[in-house]
Amino acid sequence: MSERADPGLRRAPERADDDVDLVARDQRVLWHPYAPAVADPLFGVVDAHGTRLTLDDGREVVDGMSSWWAAIHGYRHPVLDAALHAQVDRFAHVMFGGLTHEPAVELGELLVSMTPDPLTRVFFTDSGSVAVEVALKMAVQATGIPRVLAIRGGYHGDTAGAMSVTDPAGMHAVFRGYLPEQVFVPRPKPLYDEECSEEDLAPVVRALSTRDVAAVVVEPVVQGAGGMRWYSPDYLRRLVALCRERGVLVVFDEIATGFGRTGELWGMDHAGVVPDVMCVGKALTGGTMTLGAVLCTDAVAARVEARAGALMHGPTFMANPLACAVATASTRLLLDQDWRGTVARVSAELRAGLAPALSLDAVADVRVLGAIGVVELHEPCDMKVLQPRLVDEGAWVRPFGRLVYTMPPYVSTTEDVAAVTGAIVRSLSG
Ligand code: PMP
Repeated sequence: MSERADPGLRRAPERADDDVDLVARDQRVLWHPYAPAVADPLFGVVDAHGTRLTLDDGREVVDGMSSWWAAIHGYRHPVLDAALHAQVDRFAHVMFGGLTHEPAVELGELLVSMTPDPLTRVFFTDSGSVAVEVALKMAVQATGIPRVLAIRGGYHGDTAGAMSVTDPAGMHAVFRGYLPEQVFVPRPKPLYDEECSEEDLAPVVRALSTRDVAAVVVEPVVQGAGGMRWYSPDYLRRLVALCRERGVLVVFDEIATGFGRTGELWGMDHAGVVPDVMCVGKALTGGTMTLGAVLCTDAVAARVEARAGALMHGPTFMANPLACAVATASTRLLLDQDWRGTVARVSAELRAGLAPALSLDAVADVRVLGAIGVVELHEPCDMKVLQPRLVDEGAWVRPFGRLVYTMPPYVSTTEDVAAVTGAIVRSLSG
């Protein structure tokens, strides 16, 4: 059969005319995250530097998103760019099956040194979702039990396993039936500064008494994309204690909470607890390249090996040297500075800057933890109205549902944070 048998099936690519703008060309061919086929509104970026994004119409906006928790040092940080350049001059990639390289070993050593002692072994992944996927596979392979316990209100990613532990009533409800069925308990009731009662843990006790699970999978203290809520560290402590009593593995998803964002280096540090398996991602490479990692204990590694000889996972681009090199540079840059002081300063500025939102009719709650600021609305926002308004007010903030939230880069100045919070308050005042 001729390749051209049905020319009607093929479409000639549109020419990238100089007179058609970037957004219009995008809307012809590209699909964006959690968006209809044609994303609207959409803004073209032609430059990103420090805390500023320059749009294709010449406007400059202050970044309030750190590109979804990742760009903690802002854009084009010279230390990160230098690490990428240096590695690209050596080699961009080699397979990780049977080969190793300095960037991977160095990053593995660094991650082990900055996490609690029992976490001794690192498995690199291509993204946060895949880190969750690998953590689930580790737990299932280690125990032989094909299901886990997850918490409602959580978010763990977009791949099938990660979606299966994300709140089933959330953004993946459309995939019900396709996903493995996990055991869920209600989201933690006690708030960040509250004690946790026996009653608060009762659903977990019931679930663990009636169902065999390999592990509990939880975002420590902050539930991110599932609702931007923070809960009691005491709840997390007691949850871990229950798992220890019953021999259930503990998996912490630190993909959003890691690298200082909540005011502690890790979310789990608010509670002083340690998991058997831990996922990191997002800010790992300072927002430059996609990379995740799963850390586990020797005991988990031994149980995984005992069942099949090897962990049954191994992607083509595992431990990409460019990503590992820039991750080490970003993480050292973070650890070598007073990140705790910086996050505390940004936190105070977010609190002060967002406080006026509380008096607005549309606003139900304002909350801040570490360098995360959230304005929760009574009703879902109209993105077609609110998104351009935020840009007009000079900030890049990406609301979803009833949440208008910001987690600025740590390099944000006092003026930058005020620009972002001011834009949020003014945009919601209309
Ligand atoms: N876990 C958590 C807690 C997350 O916030 C996210 C991303 N929002 C993921 C996992 C998935 O990470 P990625 O988007 O890099 O796959």
